[in-house]
Amino acid sequence: MFACSNYNQFKEEKMKYALVTGGSRGLGRAVCLKLAEMGIPVVINYQSSEQAAQEVKTECEAQGVQAELLKFNVGDMEAVNAAIDQWEETHPDDYIAYLVNNAGITRDNMMFMMPTEDWAAVLNTSLNGFFYVTRKVLPKMMMRKHGGSIVNMASVTGLKGMPGQTNYGAAKGGIIAATKSLALEVAARNVTVNAVAPGFIESDMTKDLDKDALVPLIPTKRFGKPEEVAALVGFLLSENARYITGEVISINGGLYT
Ligand code: NAP
Repeated sequence: MFACSNYNQFKEEKMKYALVTGGSRGLGRAVCLKLAEMGIPVVINYQSSEQAAQEVKTECEAQGVQAELLKFNVGDMEAVNAAIDQWEETHPDDYIAYLVNNAGITRDNMMFMMPTEDWAAVLNTSLNGFFYVTRKVLPKMMMRKHGGSIVNMASVTGLKGMPGQTNYGAAKGGIIAATKSLALEVAARNVTVNAVAPGFIESDMTKDLDKDALVPLIPTKRFGKPEEVAALVGFLLSENARYITGEVISINGGLYT
């Protein structure tokens, strides 16, 4: 009895980190800063934007939390496994309790003209990336009494469709379906899994879109801000959201309801 309670106490003493994929820019950056504001130590994943990632790290640390960079391509299974193995080796007393699968790319084109590599690249980053990272992180999350929380970045495109985005829509629709199934798999282990489906949000991904044509279509008459998405993600990762799982929450200014 004594040994058992001691063991539980030891388990819960581990520091709970958040891993945010694609944390160097845009929505991922805003999520990292939000989590830091919530006092959660952050692991900032990025692929190529070294300096931007470093700046996010500095900004998180300025809020008084631990922040670390972890460079890997979410679409490269071996790189994912190696990076997370290495992180776990250097953090024997910690675990990733919060995972935000945010990394994603677009390669828009009408389907009849879409190069095979553009189909594959979008599916690989957004959908396979979600699979590789989540599968790697899940076992430790499920072992802990306090469980964990996963938020997957979907899109309005995965719900309603968008011309020129069959690849992106397939990836985001897949994320939504996987979110629902995974939530059922791990609910009893105290792990929540939800998806967020943003509409048009200001970031590098949307900077070349024709805003003058798009804004009139949005009931709130503006693009959303990364900080607004981050606030929603922060809520879904908080203790207040422990009874929410398997949900897809839209944040789109009324674009699609
Ligand atoms: P963004 O400004 O283009 O930033 C993308 C981020 O993902 C960067 O930090 C980038 O890191 C990272 N990334 C890309 N490929 C990666 C890979 N293979 N491995 C690791 N990291 C990778 O995009 P965003 O607008 O912030 O979008 C973030 C997420 O929200 C995406 O999943 C996107 O589909 C979704 N979303 C965005 C909008 C929107 O309107 N912006 C709407 C709906 C959904 P590096 O720069 O270091 O490579």
